[in-house]
Parts: sequence; structure tokens; C-alpha cells
Amino acid sequence: APAISIRDLVKRYAAEGKGPGKLALDGVSFDVPQGGIFGLLGPNGAGKSTLINILAGLVRKTSGSAEIWGFDIDRDMRNAKRSIGIVPQEIVFDPFFTPFEVLENQAGLYGVPRAMRRSMELLRDVHLADKRDAYARTLSGGMKRRLLIAKALVHQPPVLILDEPTAGVDVELRRQLWELVTEMNEQGVTIVLTTHYLEEAEELCDRIAIIDQGKVIANKTTRELVEMA
Ligand code: ADP
Ligand code: ADP
Repeated sequence: APAISIRDLVKRYAAEGKGPGKLALDGVSFDVPQGGIFGLLGPNGAGKSTLINILAGLVRKTSGSAEIWGFDIDRDMRNAKRSIGIVPQEIVFDPFFTPFEVLENQAGLYGVPRAMRRSMELLRDVHLADKRDAYARTLSGGMKRRLLIAKALVHQPPVLILDEPTAGVDVELRRQLWELVTEMNEQGVTIVLTTHYLEEAEELCDRIAIIDQGKVIANKTTRELVEMA
């Protein structure tokens, strides 16, 4: 079974004033296979964040359906949500929490029993073990982004979704984040990432769907896409 299955997904945002609202997703269908790194590539405004926000339960779809790890987002949002970890674009944590506290707090929110928590292991995975007791506000931008990845993995989801993981970061940090995403995938996590950098999708992903103006205009292996270009 696919890790994620999306069928005829439509999102029309509510209109402001006269005229219809913005049609952000115009009948999107695709499957994300298990085990790989799947790229959702498209320009700004294509509908990538809308799609992720629907999967995350943050935006209500207009019509269509989606399953995450076999759980339908209408019938079983609770299990669907537990099957994904989301790394948002914005860095969001309490500046006076330490990385260890950020992860323990997240584990608490998910009801992960103490004996099953693995905050230290996660900090090691994202190369932040030596920062466990530093205030989050003192971390570099790269460290904060790595902490966000660890936070998204606290409840051990089989699928990790990253929304524009390297937007606005420098070349060196981009490389570090690519390496980390690859490491997480090698540990068995299915990865989905959105990006507007073709280079990023080519470098990281084994499969790429291209989305433009709310429609999927290509969905191929990276090799097939590169050979077409
Ligand atoms: P992307 O992530 O690919 O840049 P988005 O999903 O953010 O694209 O946006 C898709 C379209 O929907 C854009 O035209 C955007 O302006 C519009 N849009 C996004 N969020 C809202 C919203 N909350 N209300 C109205 N329109 C929105
Ligand atoms: P700074 O902004 O101070 O450079 P970073 O967050 O970029 O801090 O990195 C902190 C440390 O973690 C660096 O020594 C870097 O080499 C190491 N590091 C970051 N990512 C990785 C990785 N994927 N694999 C190994 N070491 C890493």
C-alpha cells in the first residue's frame, strides 16, 4: 500500500468580497510509495502548503479524499495524524525551552509513555546531543531546523513531511539538512518534502510530482524526469 494516497483533492478558499475564492487545489491525485523520498515540486502559490495543511488537519478540503498510512483523513483523522510528522517552514518553539525539554514536552502532548521516550536518541540523530540543555533561543538557525525535525519524529511516525525544508538557508546549511533527511530515510522513514528548487528535488528525491496552479502536471521517477529534460 502507498504511504499516502490522494484522490481528486480540491481546495477552494473562502471568497473575500465578490467573486469566487482562490482555487488552490484543482483535482490533485497521486500516491507516495513507502520507503522513499518523494518531492512535491512547484513554484510559489502552486498549492504545496495547502496540500500539506490538509494532510495535517489544519485546512479543510473542499472535496476529494486522502489516506495516510491507510487511514482516511475524514474517517480516521486521529490515526492519520499520528502516522505523519510535520516539519513546518516556520521555526516555532519556546525560546526558553532546551532541546531536551522541547522533545519531552512534545512526547507529553502525544501521550508517549516515559519508558518509551527517546529524546536523547533523537537529539543524537539530529546531531544536537551536546546542546540538550541550551536554551532554544541560543541555537543557530541550522540547529533550530534540526530540532524541528527531531520534534516531528517524537511519536515515531512512519512518514515525515517537510515543508520547504531549506527555503532561505545558505548553501552549507542546505547540504547539512539534505544529509539529515537522507539519514532519516535510511532509518526507514518515508519522506515527503515540498520545494521550489529543482536542484533540491533532483538531489534528494527518488520520485517527483510537479504541481502548478493547483494541478499535478507530472509525476515520475527523478531519473525519468531528468531524461526528459
Ligand atoms: P505554495 O505552498 O505552493 O506556495 P499555497 O498552498 O501556499 O502554495 O497557496 C496556493 C494558492 O492559495 C495561492 O494562490 C495562495 O495565495 C492561496 N492561498 C493560500 N492560503 C490561503 C488562504 N488562507 N486564503 C486564501 N487563499 C490562500
Ligand atoms: P553553526 O551555525 O554553529 O555552524 P550548525 O547547526 O550548522 O551550527 O552545526 C552545528 C554542528 O553540528 C557542526 O559542527 C556541524 O558540523 C554538525 N552537524 C550538523 N549537521 C550534521 C550532519 N548532518 N552530520 C554530521 N554533523 C552535523
